[in-house]
Amino acid sequence: MPAVQPDTGASGATLTIDLGALVSNWRLLGKRAGTEAGAVVKADAYGLGIEPTATALAKAGCKNFFVAHVSEGIRARKVAPDAAVYVLNGLLPGTCGAYAEHALSPVLGSHEELLEWASFRQSGAKTRPAALHVDTAMNRLGLWAGEGLNLAREKSGVIAAADVGLLMSHFASSEDSTDPANARQIAAFAEIAAAVPELPASLMNSSGHFLDNCPSYQLTRPGYALYGGNPTPGQPNPMQPVIGLEAQIIQVREVESGTQVGYNGRWTAKGKRRLATINLGYADGYPRNGSWTDASTGGSALLDGVPCPFVGTVSMDLIIIDVTDVPASVAQRGASVTLIGGPLDLEAVGAGAKTIGYEILTSLGRRYERRYIGG
Ligand SMILES: *Cc1c(COP(=O)(O)O)cnc(C)c1O
Repeated sequence: MPAVQPDTGASGATLTIDLGALVSNWRLLGKRAGTEAGAVVKADAYGLGIEPTATALAKAGCKNFFVAHVSEGIRARKVAPDAAVYVLNGLLPGTCGAYAEHALSPVLGSHEELLEWASFRQSGAKTRPAALHVDTAMNRLGLWAGEGLNLAREKSGVIAAADVGLLMSHFASSEDSTDPANARQIAAFAEIAAAVPELPASLMNSSGHFLDNCPSYQLTRPGYALYGGNPTPGQPNPMQPVIGLEAQIIQVREVESGTQVGYNGRWTAKGKRRLATINLGYADGYPRNGSWTDASTGGSALLDGVPCPFVGTVSMDLIIIDVTDVPASVAQRGASVTLIGGPLDLEAVGAGAKTIGYEILTSLGRRYERRYIGG
């Protein structure tokens, strides 16, 4: 269970995390791929907590976890003692000892990293197999695809010396199944994988599971879809929702037409409106970009199933919502308001804030009371 934080519950907003739905999503992805699904739990499991999520997934049989940093890997290792834990950001200089100590697997993405890891292993250190990352589009991390292909074709000794046990690459635009870059990446990766058929390989992220003509290889690396994000944007979400976020109304007031609302008076009431102030804000991960102003559209909350726009600038700890369309008997002090849940899914919340659901998830606040259910 997660560490209790000093102001847990004190803000009044509650984040519910359904570990049963998380596990169902993981099983669905593995079934769909017809191969072993890993789990990407970087960024504190996309904001939902490494320890509770990795514990639930390990219990369900997940044997491969991916994190971004060594520090995250150490946390995953504690709750998944038998799993492979891959560190996607690769081997920073001088960190080999930490990898060995915590039985972590570096995702090696350059010749320097390969050589540093290989020479560390030659000193006799006991290590877990590493992964080799080839870059087939992103120009971000990984050996350039041509270099990867050369190493593979030459049966380069460094692959054995570094004890590489997994070959991987990452999609740049798999959430857009019509992007021709997907087929190019699939082909480039297939060529490298074919040159080292003895090495298990991994290509699919969440959306990759839903691409046509994408081989599953031996291991997949879903993140976002595990947590209920839609891997097929614009189409029905095949995943179960995992999180719900509820806040509370602190005050309700009526304002006359022409009243300016919030910091800098950026939203003006057009007609008599009823407004409610709720107890979370940008310090809880709600971007100021989600504000409705006189010049821009923004996000909303649901009260009694009715969308209530965020009017005026989102404040640090508060958001003002327009509850005019909700019966006054419902829009009361203390009433619960849905920020994420039902039709207000991660994609809708992201769109309201002019960003993507991934950013909403990973920005989720630290002040919520977190309720883990279904574990
Ligand atoms: C973050 C990440 C993933 C997971 O991506 P999702 O789109 O969240 O499924 C997989 N592989 C790599 C290399 C990543 O960085």
